[in-house]
Amino acid sequence: MPSLTCICHDCVTQCVTLFSKAQTSTPTPSPVPAPVQLLEPPEIKAILDQYVIGQDQAKKVLSVAVHNHYKRVFSGKDLKDVELEKGNVMMIGPTGTGKTLIAQTLARLLHVPFAIADATTVTEAGYVGEDVENVVLKLVQAADFDIARAEIGIIYIDEIDKISRKSESASITRDVSGEGVQQALLKLVEGTVCNIPPKGGRKHPDQEYIRLNTKNILFICGGAFVGLDEIVGRRISHKRLGFGADTHVPTPASPGELLEHAQPDDLLQYGLIPEFVGRFPVLTTLSNLTVDDLIHIMTQPKNALLKQYRALFGLDNVELTFTDEAVETIAKKALPMKTGARALRTLLEEVMLDLMYDTPALKGVQEVIITPDVIHGATHPTFIRKSA
Ligand code: ADP
Repeated sequence: MPSLTCICHDCVTQCVTLFSKAQTSTPTPSPVPAPVQLLEPPEIKAILDQYVIGQDQAKKVLSVAVHNHYKRVFSGKDLKDVELEKGNVMMIGPTGTGKTLIAQTLARLLHVPFAIADATTVTEAGYVGEDVENVVLKLVQAADFDIARAEIGIIYIDEIDKISRKSESASITRDVSGEGVQQALLKLVEGTVCNIPPKGGRKHPDQEYIRLNTKNILFICGGAFVGLDEIVGRRISHKRLGFGADTHVPTPASPGELLEHAQPDDLLQYGLIPEFVGRFPVLTTLSNLTVDDLIHIMTQPKNALLKQYRALFGLDNVELTFTDEAVETIAKKALPMKTGARALRTLLEEVMLDLMYDTPALKGVQEVIITPDVIHGATHPTFIRKSA
């Protein structure tokens, strides 16, 4: 079996054990979707590790969740007494810490269609039914209108915290439509046959709607849930101090640690309705990124930002060097911006713009060196020229 170093389609197809050999052998056109590459959880995590820095617990939880989900979908076995519940996932974590990246990478490594929907757009439109189906339309488009493939895809719904019914925070007023959107999403998430208007897509002269069953679509929701840590904190301190107090309950120190203890009950307090929370049996949290994480994000993943810039300069035969101190300086500047790894791109674009503007026209440059002072805007990069 080839090593798991690349998740491009070809490599994944080669390196994985297909769940059912029988399903692969005859490529006869049928409504049965092509089988998903069913990797073992550690294999899935190993691939995630190549792209997602840190967030070990979340990567582990998601690896198990997708493995179980597709095992359920493709097993074809009749478990007489047990009905396997659909394992949709709720990811809680600050912005820019890798929620979307994890969901996206999972879809890529499994080679299933993937769509991102924004829960707040569903709210804004107000016309709930149609919007909710548009969430699925995106997946159909991602599957190039192959309905069978779309039916085993992954939908990531972002900003799910923004459709809470109410907020514990006094600054946010009661949002009734949030509950309506949750209600509308319920059926979709649980599994239903929906009629999707093929708006903006290919023409379907014989049919007005695309019919699609969502029962095997994996829904992953993500949100920052600002203020959820306080709800968790209150619950935990009640446990420690209230009647029949459990003094063994540890006292988490930081908001991040508190979030790690989040439970479905806390989401109810936050304003998600019980039926909705119940459809997401898998709950996991992502933590804030540290300076070290940010350094690794810039340098380690296969498509790390610095690797991309270096490759771009390499096309002009110019070596781009960031000193270790410069990389650390960028990470330290990014941390207080509170946008997670997103801040890295913002900062790097600022630094690189002039350089990318000027360098292609400069003759004889062999290497460009970026130091911390360049990051601070105090000096220009150093240009090393080829000796004549
Ligand atoms: P969110 O948690 O808000 O969904 P994203 O996953 O969209 O954040 O991440 C935003 C950007 O930061 C992406 O370009 C992503 O590649 C990068 N990023 C965020 N977290 C990580 C991480 N843990 N490892 C590697 N890259 C990350």
